[in-house]
Amino acid sequence: MTMIGFATYGDHAEFITDTANYTKYVESLGTTTKHITINHIDAACLTQGDGHFGDLAMSALLQVAGQVVGFDELTLHAPKWLDEMHVDAERPENCLVFLIGYSEEAGEFVAYVYASEQGFKRVKVSRWIFPAPWNLQPSGIELRRTRRYIDQAEQSRVDLWPQVEASWTKRPKMTAPASVEEWVELAKSVREQRCLDDFAQIIVHGKVVHTRLERGTVASSVVHDFGSDDTALLKMLRGTRHPFGQMQACWCGSGETYRDCHLRWAWDQPCGCHKGEKLFKDCHMVPPSAEIGVIAGL
Ligand SMILES: [Zn+2]
Ligand SMILES: [Zn+2]
Repeated sequence: MTMIGFATYGDHAEFITDTANYTKYVESLGTTTKHITINHIDAACLTQGDGHFGDLAMSALLQVAGQVVGFDELTLHAPKWLDEMHVDAERPENCLVFLIGYSEEAGEFVAYVYASEQGFKRVKVSRWIFPAPWNLQPSGIELRRTRRYIDQAEQSRVDLWPQVEASWTKRPKMTAPASVEEWVELAKSVREQRCLDDFAQIIVHGKVVHTRLERGTVASSVVHDFGSDDTALLKMLRGTRHPFGQMQACWCGSGETYRDCHLRWAWDQPCGCHKGEKLFKDCHMVPPSAEIGVIAGL
């Protein structure tokens, strides 16, 4: 998962992404760019979810985009080649692809979302923010995914969810930001509410890249940096399998590290970074706490 927001404005479209790149359970955290632009058809593609699938989808896109007449044709062909790439990537869950561009048919900029769980069916959307902050209504896709996530979460979250869901779904829908400053404010609220908050947390990190897409022109720039605030970083990684997550005190209050407490069940499970080739304890698990010390009090 990752942060992606966009809006179409008739004669142009704008979108933002963060730059965090991470493995399934955040065993490792890096940086990446999440969009590519296809200037000859005034279009852009963004991917969210499994990184390997995203890479395959992007490279297939470059081939397909060279064979189509325009953006409209590209969007119609997309379900087929996205599904083929998804098979090649061994069908990872929760993948999203967005195509944003100028439609000759509509005479304006339009955007489509393709979700793996919907067989990459083409769905038109005019505004999007994912993850949605708690003060904005989530998309149907995000709501369904969060429900599935909560189903597997620990009991205290399951108990809290009906309340959260009831208020979240009554929130107003996202409005299209009117300036780059408003995009930055939106990105900050996403990070604050959905990444640094403890409930149904999603990693949002690195820099915020803003892109404006017009006919014949595309301009991208870094408009914000979530920065190197160590406290925020540790808070973000709490409860993940990143080394900084493993070594923090377990969320249950046992006084043990997360690694030695509620993560113990995963030691003999396949590591999230290797598609089951190696066990977690032989791969991304940090050495015993006695050997490297504990990040106290976190
Ligand atoms: Zn615990
Ligand atoms: Zn690993």
